[in-house]
Amino acid sequence: MTGSDAQHGPGRRSHPSLDRVIIAIDGPAGTGKSSVAREVASALGLEFLDTGAMYRAAAALALDRSIRLDQGEAIADVVRQADLRFDWTADPPTLYVFGEPMVDRLRDPDVSGAVSPVSQLPEVRAVLVEKQRRIGEVHPRLVSEGRDQGSVVFFDADVKFYLDASVTIRAERRVEQLRAMGRRADFEEVEHEIRDRDERDTTRRIGPLVCPKDAVVVMTDELSQAEVVERLCEIVRDRVPASRLNEPVGVGDGG
Ligand code: C5P
Repeated sequence: MTGSDAQHGPGRRSHPSLDRVIIAIDGPAGTGKSSVAREVASALGLEFLDTGAMYRAAAALALDRSIRLDQGEAIADVVRQADLRFDWTADPPTLYVFGEPMVDRLRDPDVSGAVSPVSQLPEVRAVLVEKQRRIGEVHPRLVSEGRDQGSVVFFDADVKFYLDASVTIRAERRVEQLRAMGRRADFEEVEHEIRDRDERDTTRRIGPLVCPKDAVVVMTDELSQAEVVERLCEIVRDRVPASRLNEPVGVGDGG
């Protein structure tokens, strides 16, 4: 499948004329945001956008082309040329970079190490924020997950969530996740990495991780993933009229 084919899959695309419903989910690493966002989207009949994957792709592109991680303009250029697109027929949607699917590379340790510095670069953020807004126009029934979705990209989202958990719990979850993927994981190392990433994500100048004033904060320490999903769905159903949520997902164009 080529990059441009990747945007034209049948079935799961929303039509721009359908009622717009945007749910933004932000929060630090290790809160289970991605899995929760994906399940909330599926429960509510919405699409799911993983913006972390886009920042990871930018980091992978920089590494694989030996671009220094502080070269904002050069990385932004290659991200523009790579024409990031999702294949919305896959669940979760697969990211295409230069027309090729990029999946496993996104979770490689060198990419995880490079993504935070790369995501601090204003030039890279500008390209990706713009791209995410365009995706939101073509796929306006969306659960979008990241660090700045409620605060910057979709500041007018219908419902904003901020998922959080203690660093210890988040590190434990990450270790389990890595081990389940067959990767070696040392608790202290992972905890250190999470603290570092938090520090960088919350203190960067552009698009820092912040809890929007109008976000619903959900502390997930004591909750199972299923409980978090249930709570979020309840809140969305409470705030968004059923008639808007029940709109059928049609077939549209672009994206
Ligand atoms: O969510 P995930 O762990 O895949 O995100 C990887 C990194 O991408 C985050 O640590 C953060 O530095 C960056 N990111 C971001 N803004 C987003 C999504 C992710 O800066 N909207």
